[in-house]
Amino acid sequence: MEKIVSLCKRRGFIFQSSEIYGGCGGVWDYGPLGAELKRNLRTAWWNTMTREREDVLGLDASILMNPAIWKASGHVDTFADLMRECSLTNKRVRADHVDPQAGTVLSYTGAQSPTGWRWDRAISALLKNGEHIESFRKRIRTLIAQNAGAAAGKPEEIELLGETKGETLEKTVDFHPETGGALGEARPFNLMLKTYLGPTATEDDVTYLRPETAQAIFAQFKNVFDSSRVKVPFGIGQIGKAFRNEVTPKNFTFRSREFEQMELEFFIKPDEAVEIISGEVAKWSEGADLSEPQPNWGWEMWHRYWVDQRTKFYEGIGLGDVLEYYWQTPEDLAHYARACVDILCEFPFGTEELEGIAARGDFDLSAHQNASTKSQEIFDEELKNAAVKLTDEQKEALIQKRLAAEAAKVKGEPMPEAAVRAWFERLFKGNYVPHVIEPSAGLDRMALAVIAKAFSETEKTDEKGKKETITVLRLHPRVAPIKVGVFPLLKNKPELVAKAREVYALLKKHMNCFYDETASIGRRYARQDEVGTPFGVTIDFDTLGEKGPELLDTVTLRHRDSNEQERVKISDLLGKLLPLVS
Ligand code: ATP
Repeated sequence: MEKIVSLCKRRGFIFQSSEIYGGCGGVWDYGPLGAELKRNLRTAWWNTMTREREDVLGLDASILMNPAIWKASGHVDTFADLMRECSLTNKRVRADHVDPQAGTVLSYTGAQSPTGWRWDRAISALLKNGEHIESFRKRIRTLIAQNAGAAAGKPEEIELLGETKGETLEKTVDFHPETGGALGEARPFNLMLKTYLGPTATEDDVTYLRPETAQAIFAQFKNVFDSSRVKVPFGIGQIGKAFRNEVTPKNFTFRSREFEQMELEFFIKPDEAVEIISGEVAKWSEGADLSEPQPNWGWEMWHRYWVDQRTKFYEGIGLGDVLEYYWQTPEDLAHYARACVDILCEFPFGTEELEGIAARGDFDLSAHQNASTKSQEIFDEELKNAAVKLTDEQKEALIQKRLAAEAAKVKGEPMPEAAVRAWFERLFKGNYVPHVIEPSAGLDRMALAVIAKAFSETEKTDEKGKKETITVLRLHPRVAPIKVGVFPLLKNKPELVAKAREVYALLKKHMNCFYDETASIGRRYARQDEVGTPFGVTIDFDTLGEKGPELLDTVTLRHRDSNEQERVKISDLLGKLLPLVS
C-alpha cells in the first residue's frame, strides 16, 4: 500500500489535501492523472448505467437540501457509528474498527511534572506483548504531554504516579489501537457534516452536506417521473459528492470524509402488482437467465439482475477477478431491506466493500410521502386493467398472502390488517409507491481498486547490466488516464518531430495522449508504463519512408502488457485504438 500511495503522489494521481498546511484529515485531491482516471470511471458508469439503457435517466441534484429530507430518511436520528474515545488522548476510534490486542494492563493514579503541573486522573493503558516497559512509559509520558500542552513541560520530566500491574489479556478490544489508552463506552456519533444556510447562522439554519446522493433521487422522483414519460420499471442515476464525518478515515482514499458516489435507484412494481399483471412472480434459482429483464420479475429477480449487471461492469474495467460477494444475513439487514449484497474487492489492506446493492422495498419513497405529505404514488394503467379482471376471491387470496407474510416478519412491525387492505384497495385501482433496488458505488474506492489491481513490479536489467525494479500500472485501457504516448525516435530530427506532432494532433482530438521527446525510447516507454498508458506510438525513420515506400507513414505501435510491437499505418491508427480505449 505504501508503494501505491507513493506512486500516486509521485506521478500526480492523488495528493493529500492542504498538504502545505499539514493536510486535512480524511480528505484527498486528485492530481492531473487522477482526475483523468476518475473522469474515465465516472463516464464508464454514466454510459453503462444511463446512456446505453432505455430505462435509466440521469439526475444532477444539489449537495445542500432541505434538512427535512435527512429527518425523513432517518439520517438525523440514526446515521451514526458507535465510537469510543481514548481516555489518555481523547482520540476517537470506531468501535468496530478495534482489532483484538494482547498485553498487560498498567494503571497509574495520575501524573505530575517539575513545572508544578498535576494530572489527578486514573490512567490505564495496555503494555502490548513484546513491548519494553521503558518504551511504554516513554510513550505514555509523550501522549500525556501532547494532551496537556505547554503546562506539562518536557515529556521526559513527567512523573507517572502509583504504577500498578493489572490483568494480562489475550484478546482485548478495550484499548486504543494507536495510543494503547483505555477506551471509554461506545457512544453513537452522527456522521453528517453540519453547516448553516443563510447569513444568520442560527440553529434554525442548520442543514447538512449530503451523506449520500440517493436521497435527492427519492426527493425528485415525482418530478423526473412526471417530466420524462417513463413507466415503472425505470431508474434514476446520479453521480456526485457525498460527505461523512468518518470517525476513523483510513486506508488512503478508501474511507474519506469527502468522496464521490455513483448511485442508481431502480424503481420497480411491488411483487403483488407483478402477480396481478403476469399471473406469477418469477423465482430466482441458480443459473436463472438474467440477460433480459422480463415482465414477471419481482424484486428478487431485479436484485439478482443488478448484481449481475454490476459484476459485468467491474469485469469491463479490469476488476473481474478480484471481486467477492457478501450477502447480508437476516440479522445484518435493516428492517425494511429485503436483501443486500456487498460487492467486495481485494485491496492491499484486505477484502473490503466496493459497492452495496440493496432491495429496499418502498421504504424511502414512503418515508418522504409521509414526511412531506406529498403523494409519491404512481398510476399504472396496465395494473388497473389487469386488476379489473380479478374476482373477489382472487383479490382476497392476494390480501391473505400478504397478511401471512406480514405476520411472519422477523424484523420491524407487521403492517396492521386495515392498512394492508387499504394498500390493496389503492393497488387494485392501479396506484402504488414503487419499490426500489439500489446499486450504490463509491468512485474513489473504485479508483483505488483499479490502481491497486493494476500495480505491478518487475525486475529489469538496464544496458549497463544494472538491475532495477520497474513499476507497471496495468490499467485497463478504458480507464487509463493517458491512452497513448507519442514519441519521435529522436528529438533533434525536425522531420521526425513534425511527423510525431502530426500523429499527436490526430489522436489528441479523440483521446488523452502524451507527447514525449526526451530521453531514450526505453525510458519513455517506462515512464508511461508507470502511469498505466496502454499504448505507445513511435515515429522513426521508416515512417519517413527511408526504408522504402511500403513503410512510409507507418508507425510502431507498442502494447504495454504484451510488450508486442506492430507496424500500423497512421491512417489506420485511430480506427485501431478507439475501440480499445472506449
Ligand atoms: P462502509 O460500510 O464501508 O462504511 P457503507 O456501507 O456505509 O460503507 P454505503 O452507505 O452503502 O456505504 O455507501 C455506498 C458506497 O459509497 C460504498 O460501497 C462505498 O463505495 C462508498 N463509500 C461510503 N462511505 C465512503 C467513504 N467514507 N469513503 C469513500 N467511499 C465511501
